[in-house]
Amino acid sequence: MSASLATVSYIGATILFILSLGGLSNQQTALRGNLYGMIGMTIAVLATVFGPQVSASGIPWIIGAMLVGASIGLYAARTVQMTQMPELVALMHSMVGLAAMLVGFATYIDPAASSGFTGAAKSIHEMEIYIGILIGAVTFSGSIIAFGKLSGRIGGNPMLLPGRHWMNLVGLLVVIYFGREFLHAESLSAGMTPLIVMTVIALLFGIHMVMAIGGADMPVVVSMLNSYSGWAAAATGFMLSNDLLIVIGALVGSSGAILSYIMCTAMARSFISVIAGGFGTTSATPKPAGGAAQPAGEVTPVSAIETAELLREAKSVVIVPGYGMAVAQAQHTVFEITKFLREKGVNVRFGIHPVAGRMPGHMNVLLAEAKVPYDIVFEMDELNDDFPKTDVVMVIGANDIVNPGAQDDPSSPIAGMPVLEVWKAKTSIVMKRSMASGYAGVDNPLFYKENNRMLFGDAKKMLDEVLTALKV
Ligand code: NDP
Repeated sequence: MSASLATVSYIGATILFILSLGGLSNQQTALRGNLYGMIGMTIAVLATVFGPQVSASGIPWIIGAMLVGASIGLYAARTVQMTQMPELVALMHSMVGLAAMLVGFATYIDPAASSGFTGAAKSIHEMEIYIGILIGAVTFSGSIIAFGKLSGRIGGNPMLLPGRHWMNLVGLLVVIYFGREFLHAESLSAGMTPLIVMTVIALLFGIHMVMAIGGADMPVVVSMLNSYSGWAAAATGFMLSNDLLIVIGALVGSSGAILSYIMCTAMARSFISVIAGGFGTTSATPKPAGGAAQPAGEVTPVSAIETAELLREAKSVVIVPGYGMAVAQAQHTVFEITKFLREKGVNVRFGIHPVAGRMPGHMNVLLAEAKVPYDIVFEMDELNDDFPKTDVVMVIGANDIVNPGAQDDPSSPIAGMPVLEVWKAKTSIVMKRSMASGYAGVDNPLFYKENNRMLFGDAKKMLDEVLTALKV
């Protein structure tokens, strides 16, 4: 393929990726957005493999690597459970980081990749390598820790080392110092030492950064690492002089940064304080009774039949899904119940919290899969004022996102996080298996409110029973 055809293909792929991002911003156009992305990626891969930068002798290697990668990807895509998606995404981000690191070292070691650079161009090229490996290493180790936390292999509580901010600052200064050493290195071997020292520091920083972040702030970390993986890809693009990789990396990096900002706003956190870590410190420690928002009294359990009764009598119902709905795979029964109630003239709507589940958009994906109409799915801000006018709220496997302690208890690890104010409805029904806490590890005063009922059991099983009871 000629260089000009490769360039035209890259421009075409870039346009398709931008259209893809635009499409993904809306449920109705998401399918089309995915399609644009797939076509764009196919063009990008073909133009790269058959482009001027790859010699014919390299093609069998690339095809071999692609077959191995595609087989692993296919296997992962077929076997992964929907609830494991966030961990898989974290693992994939780590791969982007690892690739940026390896490309950085390979570019530095390969004499052909560095030939032709002299003077300022050489310094810029080496700076690209240094920064690329730095971002790649932080993304790699940070994503591995995020994978561990999201999959429960590592505890959700923040690890707060004494003087951690100073450690980070010293680490940064050492990285800057070795960056200078790297740029002034006379030979390849002299440059390797600062490069390796910086890589080790960056890896440790990635581990430290994510370990210090508490359970409740993990959504921001997920989207932040998404952003980092984009910047790591852009850095790789600079090292390989590949314009498409630079553009795509920048698109992913900036969209991830915007998502992190949205997540921070949704949780009333400042981005800097999330990165600095430490939220959720007290998450695992039950607080003494008697405080302002302390849970008090007893919970009122209900049966599936009583739940069906309440739903049958209601004119307006709001369903608030959370992580437990994903675990139970209850979305299809939720749809059946919704359909039944709507046919009976009940106004059924869904309230989606921005951090419900374990990844951004988790609930929307599940509801779309179950074919719940988009026009009855609302964001938290659109519904919060309507709860006082709502007869029944069904909270299905959600916990942190409906915790009134976020508003009333300043000492709560999730204090300040906007929540769905379900307790303002006439009756709220919380469906979960036990009194266990949610991801943030905090007790939920909602369960003890007078107008709240608890429907204990697996969400899918209980909803099946509710549906049966509704239909008799
Ligand atoms: P939570 O984790 O707060 O609560 C989920 C609840 O579901 C649990 O209390 C659990 O209770 C219940 N549950 C689990 N399995 C089942 C089942 N089979 N049937 C019925 N109930 C079940 O989830 P939310 O969605 O309310 O909140 C999301 C939390 O996750 C927030 O703290 C958020 O910060 C965090 N997070 C979000 C991410 C995102 O991007 N969205 C990423 C990472 C973390 P029980 O065991 O008693 O059944």
